[in-house]
Amino acid sequence: MRIVVDLTRCQSYGQCVFLAPKVFRFHSEEALEYDYTPDDQMREQVRWAAAACPVQAITLDYQDEQSETVSHSESVGDKI
Ligand code: SF4
Repeated sequence: MRIVVDLTRCQSYGQCVFLAPKVFRFHSEEALEYDYTPDDQMREQVRWAAAACPVQAITLDYQDEQSETVSHSESVGDKI
């Protein structure tokens, strides 16, 4: 999972920091800092944070996981 935050949209409301403090934090008073590729254990908290953002600034990207699945099925297909 990868996190992308649209910082032009972020209004520093802090919901994400409150819900997933190990992933999102404020660097200075209003500058949001975050872990782009959080541990899988953080997945649930990150989802809550993204859902709670009042301006929908947080996007979650699962492309890495999907491409792993695709490459796996491709390799299975090659063997058939
Ligand atoms: S909840 Fe949304 S608006 Fe608030 S700090 Fe996080 S990303 Fe920014």
